[in-house]
Amino acid sequence: MKPHYDAIIVGGGHNGLTCGAYLSRAGVKVLVVERRDVIGGAAVTGEIAPGYRSSMASYYQGLLQPKVILDLELQKYGFEVLPAHPTVFALEGGRTFTMWDDPEKFAAEIGRLSNSDGQAYARYRAHMQKIAPFMKQT
Ligand SMILES: Cc1cc2nc3c(=O)[nH]c(=O)nc-3n(C[C@H](O)[C@H](O)[C@H](O)COP(=O)(O)OP(=O)(O)OC[C@H]3O[C@@H](n4cnc5c(N)ncnc54)[C@H](O)[C@@H]3O)c2cc1C
Repeated sequence: MKPHYDAIIVGGGHNGLTCGAYLSRAGVKVLVVERRDVIGGAAVTGEIAPGYRSSMASYYQGLLQPKVILDLELQKYGFEVLPAHPTVFALEGGRTFTMWDDPEKFAAEIGRLSNSDGQAYARYRAHMQKIAPFMKQT
């Protein structure tokens, strides 16, 4: 006999998994299918160089609702938020780009790639701080 499902979710990224978990808890018989041999989508951790494990794409946890973390008891399964700063990006040619918490250090880092962008950073930051409360609400 073929298995029967009430819902089939294509893609085992964190949205598919979250959706599947809520549906399953609501008593819905649900199947999540994932084409890769690992689940998590863009939030997956992988070995970027021998011995070094890191997020393969999405690295900054800001929008995951605390309600979901609590509802799904993620901490019980090892969920932990770690500070991301400073974040270092590998660029071509063996160069790196570091996102510092300290605004002056960060402006200097941007300035290494583009002098004008480095100088504009303080203005950009002030602008973002002004609109951040509005953005948070929306
Ligand atoms: C480079 C990069 C950096 C990012 N950084 C951040 C960040 O720092 N913070 C943040 O909040 N967001 C970030 N994002 C966005 C975030 O990654 C996405 O919003 C999030 O991954 C979406 O989750 P999802 O489950 O909807 O999709 P995905 O994570 O994309 O997962 C989709 C899954 O579906 C599978 N799939 C696709 N097609 C099929 C198929 N036909 N059959 C079976 N399986 C299939 C894929 O293999 C994958 O596992 C970033 C995205 C990228 C690309």
